[in-house]
Amino acid sequence: MKSHAKVVVIGGGVVGASVLYHLAKAGWTDALLIERAELTAGSTWHAAGGMHTVNGDPNVAKLQQYTIELYKEIEALSGQSCGVHLTGGIMLAGTPERLDWLKMARARGRYLGMDLELISTAEAKTLFPLMDERYFVGALYDPIEGHVDPYGVTHAYAKSAQIKGAAIERHCRVTDLRPRPDGTWDVVTEHGNVHAEHVVNAGGLWAREVGRMVGLELPVLAMEHHYLITEDMPELAGLKEQIHCIDFEGEIYMRQERGGMLMGTYERNGKPWSERETPWDFGQNLLPDDLDSISDSLEVGFAHFPAIGRAGLKKVVNGPFTFSPDGNPLIGPVRGLENFWVACAVMAGFSQGGGVGLALANWMVEGDPGFDVWGMDVARYGDWTTMAYTNAKVRENYSRRFRIRFPNEELPAARPLRTTAVYDALKAEGAVFGEYCGLEYPLWFAPKGVAPAESVTFRRSEAHDHVGAECRAVREAVGLIEISNYGKFEVTGPNAAGFLSHVMANRMPAVGRMVLSPMLNHRGKLIGDFTVARLADDRFFVVGTLAAESYYMRWFERHMPAGGAAGGGTAAGGTAAGGTAAGGTAAGGTAAGGVTVRPCASEYVGFSVAGPSSRALLQDLVTEDLSTPAFPFMSFRPMAVGMVQALVGRVSFTGDLGYEVWCRADDQRALYAALAGAGEPLGLRRVGGRALNALRLEKGFGTWAREYRPLYGPEEAGLGRFVDWRKHDFVGRDASARARSDGSPLRLVSFAVDADGADAIGDEPIWHDGRVAGWVTSGGYGHSVGRSLALGYVPRDLATAGSGFEIEIIGARRPATRLDAPAFDPEGTRMRG
Ligand SMILES: Cc1cc2nc3c(=O)[nH]c(=O)nc-3n(C[C@H](O)[C@H](O)[C@H](O)COP(=O)(O)OP(=O)(O)OC[C@H]3O[C@@H](n4cnc5c(N)ncnc54)[C@H](O)[C@@H]3O)c2cc1C
Repeated sequence: MKSHAKVVVIGGGVVGASVLYHLAKAGWTDALLIERAELTAGSTWHAAGGMHTVNGDPNVAKLQQYTIELYKEIEALSGQSCGVHLTGGIMLAGTPERLDWLKMARARGRYLGMDLELISTAEAKTLFPLMDERYFVGALYDPIEGHVDPYGVTHAYAKSAQIKGAAIERHCRVTDLRPRPDGTWDVVTEHGNVHAEHVVNAGGLWAREVGRMVGLELPVLAMEHHYLITEDMPELAGLKEQIHCIDFEGEIYMRQERGGMLMGTYERNGKPWSERETPWDFGQNLLPDDLDSISDSLEVGFAHFPAIGRAGLKKVVNGPFTFSPDGNPLIGPVRGLENFWVACAVMAGFSQGGGVGLALANWMVEGDPGFDVWGMDVARYGDWTTMAYTNAKVRENYSRRFRIRFPNEELPAARPLRTTAVYDALKAEGAVFGEYCGLEYPLWFAPKGVAPAESVTFRRSEAHDHVGAECRAVREAVGLIEISNYGKFEVTGPNAAGFLSHVMANRMPAVGRMVLSPMLNHRGKLIGDFTVARLADDRFFVVGTLAAESYYMRWFERHMPAGGAAGGGTAAGGTAAGGTAAGGTAAGGTAAGGVTVRPCASEYVGFSVAGPSSRALLQDLVTEDLSTPAFPFMSFRPMAVGMVQALVGRVSFTGDLGYEVWCRADDQRALYAALAGAGEPLGLRRVGGRALNALRLEKGFGTWAREYRPLYGPEEAGLGRFVDWRKHDFVGRDASARARSDGSPLRLVSFAVDADGADAIGDEPIWHDGRVAGWVTSGGYGHSVGRSLALGYVPRDLATAGSGFEIEIIGARRPATRLDAPAFDPEGTRMRG
């Protein structure tokens, strides 16, 4: 075995092999894959090999398209067949809600260039004669579906990688990973050490164990998964190969396997496997069958597909494979661990493996994944994930794999986990909570006498009117909104301003002021939107997205100035076992070159008070003059609010007159009592996240992961005015300046939609003159303006088009009017006045 390699990839499953191929293809040919046993010896060898393009996240769907297209390339290069059967497939709807879901999936497919077709049950029956059409109401046909040979695919990647110069070492377990001070690694194996510049954890079933070698507890868990293969079926004799079929009601998927059928289940009471530790001696074994645990699904399946029920059983497969809490892969560099990368929790290796390999290789070789991989980024999980949290969420996710997630549906597992000090008080006021990064926050408030619950639906729910009342309270009097669910950072030190000015695109504010600032990557795309407040020359309070806290910290650490070790905490989509990994400064912060960055989301919590009476409310509690001349829009100052030392900013995401008040977590009850007490005579109403979302749509304000993603540049997202072009050295300047002079292709626009009981929620196609021209990023009902609203991207030349727009909501194209100005307060006088 080589004793040195630029990169060692640990794990020879389909994912590790794909990563190796893409690295070699990108020019990193000094790459070594180390496999404990034979290639495919983890979960890969017994996979059913199914592949499809449909995914709830359009960005993951794109990578799935890429994966399927890649099979031709690696077959041609390696001479190894991938055993591709591109049969096409149908998804069957047994209920009207599921048919709605299929209509929405088809609509999403339109702007992704997918050729999905809604078909009747009679048409479905022609395509898949085994079904009993009485159980179904419609279907979605996807021509790009099928299955592959897991062995063939993995070996085709591996051989292609070797042809490009990469090496593979089998029967060699990596037993330890030791960092060197220069950021390189000693990879300790059963057969000697390899010194590597980079390490990739593609350990699949053992990804947790490999993570633990460097002190990481990755949020990954394996679940048992069954499929059956029948004896040859006379019903299939003489027919061409059956297409793939998903029956959501039975929670089963099917495809032909030789002369019989393969049927797999995602049963409701799925079982985790090896909850704490994966045994190293687990080889190419299967787990004992437990047909009882899947009997409910089988019963439905045999009723819906009677011929399969009649067929003899040839084989039962029960094997484990891994999931993250939300079911999407975990990829990318790990914060605080230099040159350590992960590519694991890939639950659909044959749909996603190629895309994962490409994105990770781009990231390693070019410094950027080249796509929007936020939905798969390991950094979306912070240090609040524990093994028990992962266990609860993975079970829930597995059991819901084929169930609909409604846009207003909150899932119950692992809750409540994180709560703020006012949780019980808000609950007593009727709060219905949502969960975000494990943190409970109020979605809406049920008035007295109304049950704090709602039915799940794609349409407006029972909560609609209550949310409307909250919105109107903000516009007419004053609302109290808990805003603890933001990411916060303290940036301090003599070089704090210089550092922030380098990573943020806007100029830095004067002391006592705030600015809004995009953060850009080197491609000039948005990787964050922040409020940056300056408390002193050398002290800033920065507010951004909670879910992206680790993601931001990883970026900040990468751009710390020279002149001192960047410590770096260990929380990076995983928690440090005992907090010992990779050093790190207090509380997960990092310090170097005269600047310290400290994440402090849980330390600072807060409320927004917003609406025309918000000034009167707050003025009652502070001694400072809050009049606009004395404390204008975008001011930020420490002040005592009642008995509480707080940081107060004159800004509101509602787009109304408003203030954000931040305090330390242990002061929050006192702050709440003070604000609620002072607000009572002014008609204060408690307001939840649903209303806040509706209010920001009325102003056309974007938000991270919807309007602001690494897909878009600041000009496209309407944030161009928050870029300080006079600065010469901020990250992403050259690329965004080029995009600006070229005009950049997209524009974010607002629409009023002629909706009918269902509003856009995001990911709907925007039609113009009968053609799909763009996509919706967010939508909802603007209660205070009395219109259904949507935000979305269209090509630049359509951004000023006066007419011809439609937005497809649950299969119906609804006329939409492009808005030239925000639906509420277009002049911004309320916000600034
Ligand atoms: C019953 C079943 C059916 C499935 N059906 C499908 C399907 O139809 N379609 C689909 O897309 N997916 C399916 N899957 C899921 C699919 O198998 C996984 O997505 C895929 O195998 C993940 O591949 P991987 O490379 O991440 O992990 P693995 O296959 O587990 O590979 C990890 C590899 O790393 C090696 N390794 C780990 N630690 C070390 C170490 N310390 N040193 C050296 N080597 C190490 C292991 O030996 C192993 O070979 C199914 C899974 C099961 C169990």
